[in-house]
Order: sequence, then structure tokens, then C-alpha cells
Amino acid sequence: MSPIFMRLAIPAVCFASALILRNWFISHGLNNPTEELTFLLLNLPYILLALTALLALLSEHAVEAGISLCMLCAYWLVQTQLQVPLETQPAGQIYYLLNLWLPCLIFAYAFMPEQSYRQPLGLAAIALAPVIIILLARLLAFDSQLFLASAQQALGNPVFGSHLPTLSTALYLMVFGACLSLCIYRQQTIESSLLGCSLITYSTFGWIHLNHISAFMFSAIGVLLSINLIISLLSIGYRDELTQIGNRRALKQSAKNLRGSYAVAMVDADYFKKINDQYGHDLGDQALRVIAGLLRKTADGAKPFRYGGEEFCLLFKGKSTQEVIDTLEKIRQAIANYDMVIRDKKHRPRASKQGEKRRGASRRNGDLRLTVSIGVASSDDSGHFDQVLKSADKALYRAKARGRNRVQAA
Ligand code: GH3
Ligand code: MG
Ligand code: MG
Repeated sequence: MSPIFMRLAIPAVCFASALILRNWFISHGLNNPTEELTFLLLNLPYILLALTALLALLSEHAVEAGISLCMLCAYWLVQTQLQVPLETQPAGQIYYLLNLWLPCLIFAYAFMPEQSYRQPLGLAAIALAPVIIILLARLLAFDSQLFLASAQQALGNPVFGSHLPTLSTALYLMVFGACLSLCIYRQQTIESSLLGCSLITYSTFGWIHLNHISAFMFSAIGVLLSINLIISLLSIGYRDELTQIGNRRALKQSAKNLRGSYAVAMVDADYFKKINDQYGHDLGDQALRVIAGLLRKTADGAKPFRYGGEEFCLLFKGKSTQEVIDTLEKIRQAIANYDMVIRDKKHRPRASKQGEKRRGASRRNGDLRLTVSIGVASSDDSGHFDQVLKSADKALYRAKARGRNRVQAA
């Protein structure tokens, strides 16, 4: 998915922009804006969050839709219930409860598997926040004194100069820390959204007395969620689902931006049909993921793409064929020396003779060994990218003809 820098920078920029815009708005004497401007300002978060929820639903991203609806509900509560001093009831109770379930919900969304809204977990992700609000509203309607004592006690001991009590602050900090770790170690845009949500909601509720803070901050959440959703949708079009590296379209896109010299290597798994026949399609898929992972790890600055089937392509910018031969040899060796453990016993070949019969994809110590053949050409051999690709492909066929498991220059 998006690089780590982007995943951290997008929520930070949205948060900082909302703060700067709000301060500019206030310092330019817009403390008492016109009716039209106030209307627009107060409704902007609803518009942005509703549009994001709709886009997420249409693209079958139920968790993103759930997060957008959750933020929309939180903003609705701020606008309808929290526009009075927190000492008044039920504002105090609502503020207290909201700042307990909101960080918990953000945390829960981080671990929900991506599903369609037609699946039970997807539906749960969408319904979670409205259901919690309805339940709490019913409880408060049943007994208006419920949570009153604990809310008053908690709100009497705020921390860090904010309105938030210790427990809520601890929850927000924990969720922020968890989202930050997930953002660094998992490669999905959803963690970036949740990181931003925890930071922005904490700041909004901590300093809720500031004029128009919620409108600016929840608009920032709407922008953040929509940017991350669009990035995630764009990456679907340019990423190979199985191996999580760029697909052929991404390669063509990268080719358009090529300047100066470059080298292209075509990498093709040897006897892959036999691996599928022998071990099954699932293990074949696993082998393709292993090859993609090793290409990414060993490629020494080159960009790997899945060209199609069991064929991959490596793009070396600013390099000639001679400069990449050593790297390609290292890649070939890394793949040939990789012991792919077959955990599922039913996929092991029954008769050992069956394994021995195979050439190329040899078996050692009961584990599957993969080999690849590589053909490489550079822009020095030919001007146009398609021509370079063709030359690399021809070199690949020569590598196959000369016995496979080797690197061949054009
Ligand atoms: P060679 O050494 O000449 O390249 O032989 P090969 O068997 O690798 O080449 P061939 O073109 O005959 O077969 C390619 C095989 O790759 C056939 C196809 O089933 C398999 N394959 C293509 N895409 C996938 C995939 O996404 N998953 C799995 N499991 N197999 C795939
Ligand atoms: Mg092959
Ligand atoms: Mg092939």
C-alpha cells in the first residue's frame, strides 16, 4: 500500500491544516460569521463524512464506511448535545460516555477484517456506532441519573489542561500508540485513518470549549478518510492482489515516466505448471508470493512488478545491463536457495519418485525448491520501452533454452 511516510504524513497534515485554518478563521475576526458561512461550516463535516461513507459502501469497504458513520455520529452528538456547559446534564454524561466508547471503537475497527456490507462482520462494522448511541439513549431515557455520579467525578479531574478525565485520556493514548504501531508495521491505509481519528477526536474533545473546533476537526477527519479511501481504491487498480506488488498496469505507468538509461529484467518461474500439478494451485500461489517477496527484498533498488501468470518484471532506473547482472544473479540464487516449507501434508507428493521425476522445481529435505530464469535488456540496446521489454523476453527464452535457472543478457 502507500509508503509509511504517506501513512503518517496524511493524518498529520489534515490535523495541522484544521488547526491552522481554525486559528486563521478566528484571528481574522470571523468569530461571528454570517449565517450562510456558519451553516456551511457546521454542515461540512456531515457532507464530507456522509460522502466518504457512501463511497466506502459502494466500493465494498464496510470498515471504512463504519468509521465514517462512527465519526458522523460523534459529530452529530457534539452539535446536538454538547453545545452547553459540561456541568449541565445530560451533556456531562454524554461527553463522559462518548469519550469512553469512541477510543474503544477506533481500536476495534483496527482489527476488523475488511468485508462487504453484505457479510455479518461488515454489517456489524457499519451498525456499531448507531447501535451504541441508541442503547445509551434508551438507558438514559430509562434512568436520567445513570452514570451521573461517575461522570461528575471523572469530569472533576481532567488532565493535561483538557476537559478529558484520566481514563479517557489513557484510552486515547493507548489507541493512538496501537494505531501508530499498526501504521508502521502493517501496510494498509486504514491504520493511517484510525491514527488520525484518534489524534483529532482526542484534541477536539479535550478542547471542546474552543469556538468552532469540532466543525474544523471533523471536516479534517472527513478529508482524511476520503483521501485514504481513494488511495486504497487507486492501489487496487495498480496492485497485484496475490503478491501485493505492482501489476502490469503499474509497470506501464512507471514506463511512461522513464528518463535516461534503464534496464528491464523478465523473471519467469521454471516448470511452474508442474508445481501446480504436483502440489496444487494453493501452493503454487504461495510460491508466487515467495518469489515476489524475494524480488522485493533482493532487488537492490529495482521495482518489481507481476507481469502476468508466473512472470515478473524488474525495472532498474539509471542502470545498464552490466550494472544489474550481479544483482540478478543474487536474486536467482536467493530464489533457488529458498526452502519453501510445505506445511500441509496433503500437498506433499505421495511417492518420492514422483518428486524426483520433476526437473527445475526440485525437492530437498521434503521442501519445495523454486528456480527462475531471467532475461535482461537495457535502453542502450533499444530506445523504446516495449522494444527493451521484447529484448528482455527474447533473452529469457534463451535462458530457458540453455537449461533454465540462469541469467541471460540480451
Ligand atoms: P517454463 O519453465 O517453460 O516457464 O515452464 P512453466 O511450466 O513455468 O510454463 P507454462 O507457461 O507452461 O506454465 C505456466 C503455469 O503457471 C501455468 C499456470 O497454471 C501457472 N500459473 C499462472 N498464473 C498462476 C497463478 O496465479 N497461480 C498459480 N498457482 N499458478 C499460476
Ligand atoms: Mg514458467
Ligand atoms: Mg511463463
